[in-house]
Amino acid sequence: MALVKMGELLQSVKDNSYAIGSFNVSNMEMAMGAIEAAEYMKAPIMIQIAEGRLRYSPLELLGPVMIAAAKLSKVPIAVHLDHGFSLKTIKLALELGFTSVMFDGSKYPLEENIRLTKEVRKLADEYGADVEGEIGKVGGAEGDYKDVDIAITSVAEAEHFAAATKVTAMAVAIGTAHGNYKVEPKLRIDRLREINAAVKCPLVLHGGTGLTKEDFHNCIHNGIKKINIATASYDSAAACVRKTIENDKTAGYFAVSDAIVKGTRENIVKHMEIFGLKNKL
Ligand SMILES: [Zn+2]
Repeated sequence: MALVKMGELLQSVKDNSYAIGSFNVSNMEMAMGAIEAAEYMKAPIMIQIAEGRLRYSPLELLGPVMIAAAKLSKVPIAVHLDHGFSLKTIKLALELGFTSVMFDGSKYPLEENIRLTKEVRKLADEYGADVEGEIGKVGGAEGDYKDVDIAITSVAEAEHFAAATKVTAMAVAIGTAHGNYKVEPKLRIDRLREINAAVKCPLVLHGGTGLTKEDFHNCIHNGIKKINIATASYDSAAACVRKTIENDKTAGYFAVSDAIVKGTRENIVKHMEIFGLKNKL
């Protein structure tokens, strides 16, 4: 019985020495791998699914699996909708018992983003759930959506957005992009530091796949409280499946199923170690 809220986990991080990891999962095996990783690390975790991936993993099917996995676990787990774009999907996640939802209004002009995020905040309040918003634009594409260019979050906009929407957590754009990097990212740690000094709201880093250990530590020390990892887990699970089949041409369905759990677990343990989460129960 360890289903908790995002805000609770982020507020439990009292200094800038570690950050909560929020890991995307797309099926039961990935959810199992994520929870095995958190139990092994003796640390809290967030598991999430993005609206852009629901074509592969319908929320009505995967959502209850994620909730059940959290409730059965020994560690605190928040179940989160990542990059919600439509009120319909956000409402469905809340109905299923997700303890937080992200509304990604970053493609809208600021005032429209604020107006829509406030609507989501109001809806989530009815369910006692937390909300993550996004200000500025993280680059790349989430799921099947089109690539967008990076637009670095400004301090004034971040202050205005946090005060107006009262979100539980705020994703900021500081030079990262979703997916695998085509060119080396240039992180704006200076801007992160300024935003963190100006707002109390916990800050979220998207586009974590491909950053170095040093990049992560720089982000954590300068105010990031939640780090999203998606692509690295998908890549790790796929690589583990390929290796299993290459090593044993007769490998069947259950060997592949095990490989997805293992590949996911290994990537998440690696990232939780970098994020400083060992024994952070
Ligand atoms: Zn993202």
